[in-house]
Amino acid sequence: MTQYTPMIQQYLAIKAQVPDAFLFFRLGDFYELFFEDAINASRELEITLTGRGGGTEERIPMCGVPYHSADNYISRLIEKGYKAAICEQVEDPSVAKGVVRREIVRIVTPGTVMDGKTLGDASNNYIAAVAQVGGRYGFSACDVSTGELYATSLSDSLQMLIDELNAYAPAEIIGDGPLLDRVRGQIPLTAKSTVFTAWERAADDKLAPQFGEEAAGKLDASARRVVSLLLAYLHETQKQSLTHIKEIRAYSPQQFMTMDPFTRRNLELVETVRERSRKGSLLWLLDETVTAMGARMLRRWIEKPLMQADAIRSRHDAVETLYKQFILRDDLRTVLKEVYDLERLVARMAYGSANARDMIALRVSLEQVPRLKNVCAGAGARVLERLVDEMDPCSDISEMILGAIEDDPPVSVRDGGMIREGYHDYLDQLREASTNGKKWIAELERSEREATGIKSLKVGYNKVFGYYIEVTKANVGSLPEGRYERKQTLANAERFVTPELKEKEALILEAEDKRTDLEYELFVQLRERVSAQIGRLQKLAEAIAELDVYQSLAAVSASNRFIRPEIGDGYDLHIEEGRHPVVEAVLESGAFIENETKLTAGDGSMLLITGPNMAGKSTYMRQVAVICLMAQIGCFVPASSARIPIIDRIFTRIGAADDLIGGQSTFMVEMMDIQVMTEKATERSLVIIDELGRGTSTGEGMAIAQAVIEFLHHEIGCKTLVSTHFHELAHLEESLPQLRNYCMAVKESGQQVTFLRKLIRGAASTSYGIYCAQIAGLPDAIISRSYELLQTFEARAAADGPEPGAGSSGGAVLTEEPAARTSANAAGAGEANAPYGVPDGALSQRSAVE
Ligand code: ADP
Repeated sequence: MTQYTPMIQQYLAIKAQVPDAFLFFRLGDFYELFFEDAINASRELEITLTGRGGGTEERIPMCGVPYHSADNYISRLIEKGYKAAICEQVEDPSVAKGVVRREIVRIVTPGTVMDGKTLGDASNNYIAAVAQVGGRYGFSACDVSTGELYATSLSDSLQMLIDELNAYAPAEIIGDGPLLDRVRGQIPLTAKSTVFTAWERAADDKLAPQFGEEAAGKLDASARRVVSLLLAYLHETQKQSLTHIKEIRAYSPQQFMTMDPFTRRNLELVETVRERSRKGSLLWLLDETVTAMGARMLRRWIEKPLMQADAIRSRHDAVETLYKQFILRDDLRTVLKEVYDLERLVARMAYGSANARDMIALRVSLEQVPRLKNVCAGAGARVLERLVDEMDPCSDISEMILGAIEDDPPVSVRDGGMIREGYHDYLDQLREASTNGKKWIAELERSEREATGIKSLKVGYNKVFGYYIEVTKANVGSLPEGRYERKQTLANAERFVTPELKEKEALILEAEDKRTDLEYELFVQLRERVSAQIGRLQKLAEAIAELDVYQSLAAVSASNRFIRPEIGDGYDLHIEEGRHPVVEAVLESGAFIENETKLTAGDGSMLLITGPNMAGKSTYMRQVAVICLMAQIGCFVPASSARIPIIDRIFTRIGAADDLIGGQSTFMVEMMDIQVMTEKATERSLVIIDELGRGTSTGEGMAIAQAVIEFLHHEIGCKTLVSTHFHELAHLEESLPQLRNYCMAVKESGQQVTFLRKLIRGAASTSYGIYCAQIAGLPDAIISRSYELLQTFEARAAADGPEPGAGSSGGAVLTEEPAARTSANAAGAGEANAPYGVPDGALSQRSAVE
């Protein structure tokens, strides 16, 4: 190492502190990267790789970015999942002896970004910590950009930890290496790639000072451990006091509905399965929030449906009030539009990164609070009134800002122009000194013209030479001797100064220098005074966010014809004319067919749904889950009436899009999901399985399907919706008292099969698989050959004896004319009289031809 120059030695010593981060090493007006960092950064950021001598024969690879545009490059690295350590010069180079002292001032990691551009307004950016202590797992998540910190302790089940991690979708997870290894690979489900950082240093002694004795004392060992880990990591990376992270929001997992990662994805809560886009998700439909804080809170609500009936009903009360009062809702939206992202503003105040424009944004936001209170006063819902009653308008803070900061201040806090006249005496004096000086100069042009008789004489200013008197070359001769000192020569003019001008200039510049320094100082003081009030501001921000979420849910409920669900304390679920809100929203208006759902302890809690592909089975099953979830987050639901019991857990096993984790087969993944389900489901859970038993041989698939159904029926008693292509399973209705056969009605007419999307009693008897293949455009040769083969198979099967249950399960297929083809539905078509009959009207209501 000694062969390197002292600066490179310094670089290497600092780099050794942050082996896993790009080190941005400040050199004058640039941040430079060296060695491997330079090679990798030049590739990732597409910047030129150069080199520099460093004491060795070989040049050291180097690349750099200007300091003023570094944020942009750093964000790009963070978005790619890297970390960046910012190393500044911490002493004045002009007074430094030897190499300027440098220190890392902050390490930016994906979980600790503060920069608004990288973050995105509508979602939180979490860093999570995990730990296993004794028999329990600790979990904590923190959003550094807003100051929220959540913590919980989970029973000794890795699955629960994974569920929590997926609910928060953290950008970064810290914890000890072996635990991270167990967690890794189980979190493939978020759009963002998660970064794992091995970290075992805890800051136990900092807990009480940060959060208070009482809050810290309430945590159990595992929660305490994770919060300590987080705090230590944040101190290490942020090198800040973190005063905005004030409160530990401890919770118990039982407070919220549990959903495994697949269920979250399958129900498309915050992004779609296929494109992973927000558009098409439940969040997309429900989000009519107008503030960023509201948008983030809505997302949190969707990720964590409530479990206490009272709390849910109180949300429904608020939504109902706003649902019914269109004008109130509209007024509320108008006021909320004036409210900026208080949470992040306040965090920037604490970080010392807020500028004067942030101050104005804070002031303007605070000034809306009395208006919000006015709008909601007497709204008629206790929950709304309590919310606004408890809102602290923080008028002392807004007045403080109003008195200090100009209405339209500049972005930079270093160049002055922020502080109002009358705020500070000495500042006013300085301002006057420079104004007077400038007035004198403004007068100078006239007086010099008069004194010299040169009409074209000009007085000007530039950054390098300061103030000058400019005279064209032709006129230079007319200047009196002595007083004018030549300063700069141009092509056809000369610039001069006079002793008085120099003196005034010095006065002005000194006053301006002092003024900008003093303005900065006053601004920082003000920022600190505001920061001291963070607790109040955060509380206010949360109340405003909640109000925003209520108006959003109300607005969406009103425009989509949702109704208030009744939250039942018992077991039974009854939805009349239910719809899938998102599918309905993307279909043409009126095209969605409603369906009823009744799952009761006395009259069937398990539906076995058969029907061809594309008939609408999975949409129906998802719709039931989504309605329950919407009810439990406090939203109205797409139905004509709904009675929803509290569901403790939703399990879904739907679709094939997410089947490949770690190269496991679809079937294996399905079995693992089902294993978890059998272990965790309770009587209060809702279980949804699409195409149970596919992916293995028919015999085995059917056997497993039946065994799983029997297990759920006998052992668990949860509400269950199962779809299957094994029509043969319909016979189970005879032996399982809680099971009911249902199918999706289909209308055949000639060559045409119409899916009616109507759920009716009875079992389907054909899959129309070949018909679907035909619609998909497979060559005629394949289609006719398929029908031919099917006939042979069926003939063979018939010769081998009847299939189990075949006799009892008729087809709920309505045939208008005998199918004209050698069709697969020959068996079903002939058996239009299903054992339960086709309800009158169900089929004739609509016939949406595909
Ligand atoms: P399956 O699970 O039976 O294969 P899906 O539930 O995937 O069928 O539905 C197929 C398509 O039918 C969906 O993409 C949707 O557009 C449409 N669909 C489903 N249910 C309904 C409904 N109730 N009303 C109108 N269209 C529906």
